[in-house]
Amino acid sequence: MSDRLRGHAAIITGAGSGIGRATALRLIADGADVLAVDRNGEGAAETARLAKARAQEAGWGRCIAETRDITDADAPAAMVENCKQAFGGMTILVNNAGIGASTAVHQTNDEDLDRFLDINLRALFRCAGAAVTAIREGGPKGDNGERRKGGVIVNIASIYGIMGVPGSSIYSATKAAVIGLTRNMAADYGPDNIRVNAIAPGMILTPMNRDRFETNEYFRDMTLNATPLGRVGAPEDIANGIAFLCSDDASFISGHVLAIDGAWSATKFRPFPGKADKPG
Ligand code: NAP
Repeated sequence: MSDRLRGHAAIITGAGSGIGRATALRLIADGADVLAVDRNGEGAAETARLAKARAQEAGWGRCIAETRDITDADAPAAMVENCKQAFGGMTILVNNAGIGASTAVHQTNDEDLDRFLDINLRALFRCAGAAVTAIREGGPKGDNGERRKGGVIVNIASIYGIMGVPGSSIYSATKAAVIGLTRNMAADYGPDNIRVNAIAPGMILTPMNRDRFETNEYFRDMTLNATPLGRVGAPEDIANGIAFLCSDDASFISGHVLAIDGAWSATKFRPFPGKADKPG
């Protein structure tokens, strides 16, 4: 815990579960005010309840839950407006809401194609646009009475957007697009002092994939046994990376894609069989 995000006002989409919830709690602990947006109202409310306890412990930070489907036409403008009303401005967007578990190309019907494109790419794109406008207007007022300038956007991609993984065509395609968008936005908005980065999580145990991980041996082998660090990630592993990218510790980092995956995507790892602890 630190106060490195004090004076920041953040919107986190998909904050009612998994990585989004852990990020809300982490950003609160580091001093930010947070608008926790999710289409699952109960999930968002639970995040706000947990955040309240975290804020009391820390002595700072506020969290407001907002039930909203980010694919709705007016969602980006509305949530940005609510953040400005509640906290006096906006400085951070964590573009996290997303869906997973797609199929191979020949198995993907038009309905699924549109669903993935709508949530994982179109809504994320539109939320980013609304955030840029709000961040340009300024963040909350500081002790000197002036509004904070500049801000940070963190887009949640996936290592599936970097490497080919069987049976995940449209999911991978949307996440690769998020990485391309991140680099483009870093170029467009650097002059506004808006840093734009992506995080590419590896296998993180959340409600999105817990069932598949526990029941599908192939999936478990393909993730856990291919990870040199020998474990799956926790939502907090991603939240820690997001908090870092939002902070001034990352003030010269923009256009970067940070893989947080226990070295899964950097290696072709298989545990060495037998008794020897090293091959050769
Ligand atoms: P999660 O536990 O399912 O949380 C995602 C949250 O976003 C859910 O509450 C979900 O609501 C919400 N959401 C989905 N679509 C929405 C919409 N249109 N409007 C508002 N809220 C919406 O999943 P997670 O694992 O934390 O995933 C968060 C992000 O990390 C996603 O973008 C995912 O692709 C990415 N990621 C995750 C992993 C992993 O291993 N977990 C790996 C790589 C990347 P519903 O429950 O109603 O869908």
